[in-house]
Amino acid sequence: MDAIKALRSQGLRGLAKLRPVGSRVPRIPPNGEAPSTFDWDENYHTEFCVSGTTALALAVAVAIGERQLAYTPEVILPAYGCPDLVAAVLAQKAKPVLVDLVPDSPHMDLEKVKEAFSGATVAIVGVGLLGVPERLELLSELCQSNGVALIEDSAQCFPPASEHQRWADLIVLSFGRGKPVNLMGGGALLVRKDLLSGAKPIINRFPLIEMKLGFRWKVKRLVFNFLLRRFPYFLTEKLPGLNIGETRFKTLDEVVRLALPERLLHLGIDHFHQRSAMHRDYLEQLDPLQKNGWCFLDTEPISRELQRVARNRFGLLAPSRHHRDLAERKLNRAGVGASGLYRRILPKIDGIRGISGTSDYPNARSFAERLLTLPCHEDVTTDDITLIVRILIGLSRE
Ligand SMILES: *Cc1c(COP(=O)(O)O)cnc(C)c1O
Repeated sequence: MDAIKALRSQGLRGLAKLRPVGSRVPRIPPNGEAPSTFDWDENYHTEFCVSGTTALALAVAVAIGERQLAYTPEVILPAYGCPDLVAAVLAQKAKPVLVDLVPDSPHMDLEKVKEAFSGATVAIVGVGLLGVPERLELLSELCQSNGVALIEDSAQCFPPASEHQRWADLIVLSFGRGKPVNLMGGGALLVRKDLLSGAKPIINRFPLIEMKLGFRWKVKRLVFNFLLRRFPYFLTEKLPGLNIGETRFKTLDEVVRLALPERLLHLGIDHFHQRSAMHRDYLEQLDPLQKNGWCFLDTEPISRELQRVARNRFGLLAPSRHHRDLAERKLNRAGVGASGLYRRILPKIDGIRGISGTSDYPNARSFAERLLTLPCHEDVTTDDITLIVRILIGLSRE
């Protein structure tokens, strides 16, 4: 086994690995205080779901609405992203229509978005990537002039950029493992309040299950948090068959709502706000890379609030696929879980079918080949950052 080989060749020092992503799940105190409100409560109603993917499927159902369509409804998505985006759209018998990105940017090309509109379009999904939100203000103008819904997929960005600005009609949150607020699963659909009376009958059609924070949940939390540590993470990564971090397409067969205790989400949010905005350290210390063809995802000004909060990972683009792969290998060999994230555009991910749009997405493809993500969680130390920065700067000079 690889783990045993590594043990022989490297001794104990090589047996630790800094996980690429994932924050610890909060402990539930025995005497919970009365739940307060969420920051988005003034503008959005909260509906909990079993996952972020389910919340997105619910959002698509609301966007389709009560209309009896004689055609297949279409939903516009970026060509690079989480494969769950496609699963959620297909789960509502809608057709994903993909759009290329702006060069060297995580944002959809707005001209391409306009071209992707058809009479069958019901929604655009503006997906935030690694803490960087989409250009929701511009997308909301496009949506309004075409009479379609704007869904902000904020699974990787917290808080959602629309919570005070009201750009999105619907917002999707995920509380899964690699997300900013980690509750080991769950998600939420936020519905802008002016749409609630129309949306509620649609939402109520989906089954609702209970969630218990009992003994089993507490044990699962302890095990989960233990496995995040450097030695257990090193071992689990080596276990054959687990393929941690591999991108896979999974269909979504059932859309189920979850009676998630609000108290748990409040604890998760508090935990999130205690973490530092480490991406700022990366932005500052990796700045010299920009002279050598590397670029950051923070191309557009983002709100002061989002600059101040933690991210789930820090993303940057290498000058080429070769540089990305080399950096990824070097960092991992040094015990740092750096990752290329999805590595492929959506149509190239195994198992994805039923997608429409132009067949080529050169900017998304280049993005997929060059994206490198660095860990940003609470267990990344200043020594880790120094090591990461040294490796990347050394490599960029080669
Ligand atoms: C993770 C993710 C989802 C799905 O969330 P789950 O809770 O894992 O189902 C949807 N969209 C984006 C952008 C994601 O990163």
